[in-house]
Amino acid sequence: MVCTQKSSQVVGRFAPSPSGPLHFGSLVAALGSYCLARHVGGSWLLRIEDLDTPRVVLGAADEILRALEDCGLEWDGPVLYQSRRTDRYQAALERLQQSGLIFACGCSRKEVLASAPHVSEEGPIYAGVCRAGLAQGRRPRSMRIRVPQEQVCFVDGVFGAREQRLESVVGDFVLRRADGLFAYQLAVVVDDAESGVNQVVRGADLLTSTPRQIFLQSCLGYSPPDYIHLPLALAQDGEKISKRHGAVAIATGQGRAPDLWRALRFLGQSVPEELQNAPAVEVVAWGVKHFDLQQVPTSFRVADG
Ligand code: GLU
Repeated sequence: MVCTQKSSQVVGRFAPSPSGPLHFGSLVAALGSYCLARHVGGSWLLRIEDLDTPRVVLGAADEILRALEDCGLEWDGPVLYQSRRTDRYQAALERLQQSGLIFACGCSRKEVLASAPHVSEEGPIYAGVCRAGLAQGRRPRSMRIRVPQEQVCFVDGVFGAREQRLESVVGDFVLRRADGLFAYQLAVVVDDAESGVNQVVRGADLLTSTPRQIFLQSCLGYSPPDYIHLPLALAQDGEKISKRHGAVAIATGQGRAPDLWRALRFLGQSVPEELQNAPAVEVVAWGVKHFDLQQVPTSFRVADG
């Protein structure tokens, strides 16, 4: 059984993908992670997850940085760009390879789907077709890691005790994709560990990815961070707010960011009404001082407006 442990000095982070501007959903994750880290005098790092190049939107990273600055969310140290760290992911992959945990897979997406014993909320379960080696005439496409049979368990700061059997929810998963790009699951684990991050605060859509990340941490000898997943801000159609759903950039200007107040309310915090139109720094300062994890709801709530 792989279990997370509590750690003490807080190093938090925000890790947006530059696939669009900072919208209400990502502001909730940014503000929640910021307040939780700063509340205890911890540091807060910023990482741009621009690894999935086909999804990167030109100029979006700079727009996100500007929006965070306008909100008064100041990060520590230089911004980390995943696109500049592929040698680190390669090194981690090689370490896993030396431990005999990795194998080349020749299956296309279509083949994975066709051979899947079932499809979970994470997609088709890999049937293990290439686990014992590539069949003759097959060329390697992706690199996968063998998953264990045992449960991965952890205690989330909001959602409580969670467990997942990787074998039945994802199967052997991809660490390097057929297009040569490193998978998010590997990159996030390497980056968090190498940056000293010990508190991961992010949207609850990643709750089901966490067991994969804890498993990778155990394979690479990293200590797991504390995990705090925040309720997702959903669009009116019930889907996660994203660029696909026409998410609008949060409004900032003249030192004000009215969505900060809404984001604190969304996270169950009793921020006073009179701060609704207050300067961004005042709203953030309130959040840093008063943020109470116990008040964060687990239910996914529709964002107003
Ligand atoms: N880049 C991911 C996103 O924007 C977040 C990853 C993480 O926080 O681990 O949804």
